[in-house]
Amino acid sequence: MAFINSPIESFTYCSRNIFVKRDDLLHPEFSGNKARKLAYFLDNDFSQINTLVSYGGVQSNLMYSLSALAKLKGWRFIYYSNRVAKFAKQATSGNLAESLINGMQLKEVDNKDLKSYVYSLHSSPEELIIEQGAAQYEAKYGISILARELRQWINENEIIKPIIFIPSGTGVTALYLQNELLEYDVYTTNCVGSANYLQEQWQNLEIINKLPTVLENNRYIFAKPNLELWDTYCEITSASKIEFDLVYDSIAWKILKENLHKIDGTIIYIHCGGLLGNITMKQRYKYSLSLNAMEC
Ligand SMILES: *Cc1c(COP(=O)(O)O)cnc(C)c1O
Repeated sequence: MAFINSPIESFTYCSRNIFVKRDDLLHPEFSGNKARKLAYFLDNDFSQINTLVSYGGVQSNLMYSLSALAKLKGWRFIYYSNRVAKFAKQATSGNLAESLINGMQLKEVDNKDLKSYVYSLHSSPEELIIEQGAAQYEAKYGISILARELRQWINENEIIKPIIFIPSGTGVTALYLQNELLEYDVYTTNCVGSANYLQEQWQNLEIINKLPTVLENNRYIFAKPNLELWDTYCEITSASKIEFDLVYDSIAWKILKENLHKIDGTIIYIHCGGLLGNITMKQRYKYSLSLNAMEC
């Protein structure tokens, strides 16, 4: 494993000392929880594979990480999505632009069931299909490395009552992390879909020992510009001097802040990367909320 041991920094927020595991710094192109989820494919020999195949939205952080993985491995990368707006394809920066620069072949299709479509087309032993959100068993490998790093740091620094916080999309990272760190509590918030949906995803995954604690988000919609979330983004940037992502982290910090008084422990926030997506997200803020200066 080449990309390990991200640093842990701290800052003061709402009179609390908060630690941040800087997984955004793992590697310039291959970082965040997507690098952890995909580490298995980087570290193991897949000499029979020459093509990586996946599918989903074109602003996806996973898509970009897959393009970086394919480049590192010398694989072709084919990605299926539904039709993409012309302006999105013309963007010169952000996840889509950078993935194309990394050599990704984008295939736009009308089929709504992308998963079945992809499996019907790609079944050769030379092709490796990665699920949407990398919601799959192999993700465990890299997340267990993250868990080991956390445990070691917590022990060395004699952190009292550590609470690990991580935002959820599929919830795979939070679930696996909690089950690798049974002695601690992992907290999360649902950034995509409802809290019930998150619980359902977990039930479908496998037999598990312990579920993360969910701080429920029932107000904010994933990737939808919102002034309260923008203010949170600015507040957390100013307090931490760290840039966080605008789709997951802005919701996560908002919900975490509201619940902070109820949480008795030392918060270690996992920075999941995804900063390339901020470029296109800031443009969306500009259009939909007519914010002129998209700087805090
Ligand atoms: C993908 C992602 C998440 C959520 O990860 P899941 O394992 O799908 O829950 C959180 N934050 C960022 C920045 C991400 O890119």
